[in-house]
Amino acid sequence: MSEDIVYSIKKRWLPVYIILLVATIVLMLGLGYLYLKSGSTDYLSSILLVALFAAYIAWSISKVIRIKIAPRKLVSLVKCTHCDYSEERNYEKGDYVFKNLGQCPKCSKGRLYISGIYLKGGEEKIKEKIQPLPLLRIFSSIKHL
Ligand SMILES: [Zn+2]
Repeated sequence: MSEDIVYSIKKRWLPVYIILLVATIVLMLGLGYLYLKSGSTDYLSSILLVALFAAYIAWSISKVIRIKIAPRKLVSLVKCTHCDYSEERNYEKGDYVFKNLGQCPKCSKGRLYISGIYLKGGEEKIKEKIQPLPLLRIFSSIKHL
């Protein structure tokens, strides 16, 4: 659930990030224009700082876009009061814990009841592919030759 909250907050901040990125690019262009007109190196260092900020914002945007929530579904765990019968079925509207569902199909002695309702799936977290740096990749390919 907490992942969903983080996701919705980040999605809400996406337009702000984009506006900031556009603003920093406009600022960079303005500073570049001033540098060309005056030739002062002070503008160049300012452009560098603004470019770093723009790169950070672009990185943040790419992180927000890359977030994917694995599909999950709500299931009800059905158990028998007499035997070890248990079954997971899709949640149906009106399901609640300890709801009576009639006789057990396995032993026909006990009664079926809902012992739990929970979200299933989404356990697989986003695994970012860790790849070696380009230079290391070149070295490892040389070793194989
Ligand atoms: Zn049973």
